Amino acid sequence: MLDRIRIVLIGTSHPGNIGGAARAMRNMGLADLALVAPRCDPKDRDAFSRASGALELVDGARVFDSLEAAVADCTLVVGASARSRHLPWPMVGPRALAESLPDALAPANAQAALVFGREDTGLTNAELQRCHRHVHIPTNPDFSSLNLAAAVQVLAYECRQAHLALDTTPADEEASQPFGVEWDNPPASHADMERFFVHLEKTLTTLEFHDPDNPRQLMARLRRLFLRAHLDSMEMNILRGILGTMDKRLAATMPAAQHDRPSKRSDSGPDDSA
Ligand code: SAH
Repeated sequence: MLDRIRIVLIGTSHPGNIGGAARAMRNMGLADLALVAPRCDPKDRDAFSRASGALELVDGARVFDSLEAAVADCTLVVGASARSRHLPWPMVGPRALAESLPDALAPANAQAALVFGREDTGLTNAELQRCHRHVHIPTNPDFSSLNLAAAVQVLAYECRQAHLALDTTPADEEASQPFGVEWDNPPASHADMERFFVHLEKTLTTLEFHDPDNPRQLMARLRRLFLRAHLDSMEMNILRGILGTMDKRLAATMPAAQHDRPSKRSDSGPDDSA
């Protein structure tokens, strides 16, 4: 299970935190570290000195330009957030999250990512809206933000405890299935979901249900709906098929000029009135 958990650090500005996160990961038996657009040199000597014996993890960390690229193959993406956000999103605590991982990671193609934000500003709304769930480490509400590497430590520790508990679970109690039953199709990946959201926005725009110039929170709410449902790959194909058929019908009934209106980002705006 631990080899299917990726730690993703976005926009880290202090190399010491990359080293500290690597050390926490190695202590707990995690090995997959991904860095998204770091704002420091990840191989700075501070990174290596804080990593202690986890030098290989720092050396082997993969660097990506975007969150999408770092988690494209993931079937479960969880954002770690110190603050509650405007639009409520499915939220778990660290222990409940870790205890859900054996089931979530049971399908053959399953892969999880735990995503951590910048030291100064955390994760953006757009990044949080790419996650199936958020995890919040319960802290003093007057001072809720942990140091980045400390936050990685807490979640990595809980993952390890859940992994150790697997050894003590009697075989007949091992459900290890995301929906409590053997599922017929593998879960959709993050990349599949993102392609679906792009397609959905385009079709809804053509349909004139969605106005990219006045997006409100429509796409954020639809993201929340479909991410909460945790679609499998067959369900994803059916939805894409429905959209494709709608596109064809729309193309047959609407003048070409109305298609493909440029869309500006609709998932990070402050307006919550949709
Ligand atoms: N000042 C930032 C917090 C940055 S801490 C803010 O206000 O959002 C860096 C990262 O550590 C956060 O983006 C988050 O991923 C993680 N983190 C810190 N405290 C956390 C907490 N209490 N629960 C979950 N994640 C936390």
